Amino acid sequence: MITIIGNIMKQVRQTLQKEVTYNAMINFMGHPTAEEVYESVHEKFPHISKATVYRNLSALEEKGMIKRVPKLGSGSDRYDKNTHPHFHAKCRNCGKIFDVALPLEDVMGKAKVMDDDGFALSSYQLIFEGICTDCRSKEK
Ligand code: ZN
Ligand code: MN
Repeated sequence: MITIIGNIMKQVRQTLQKEVTYNAMINFMGHPTAEEVYESVHEKFPHISKATVYRNLSALEEKGMIKRVPKLGSGSDRYDKNTHPHFHAKCRNCGKIFDVALPLEDVMGKAKVMDDDGFALSSYQLIFEGICTDCRSKEK
């Protein structure tokens, strides 16, 4: 009996921790790293460990509730609450990621590997680069 209650309590705690992680994601503007999500969770819930937040981010990603933006070049992987397919632009200076408004429905259909008719495309990574507004205003 005690074991059953213990298990239920554990499940409730895990569900709440997942919700806390998801809410932190939703409240973030832009594309936080796992570290940044953890820091924001930690402010309100100091007892939730970093491992738990990282695990919850992976679980939320697996459920399709958030998306992972793999690191390109330097920096860390980032998470995205916008789960609709879209491109990203990365600031070369601060590494921040921004959504790009550009239709991508037919990118795979239009892409053709040169000199290789037999190449079967299965996925792609495409990222725009530039300097963000903040960094540009600091340059002046
Ligand atoms: Zn920047
Ligand atoms: Mn995005």
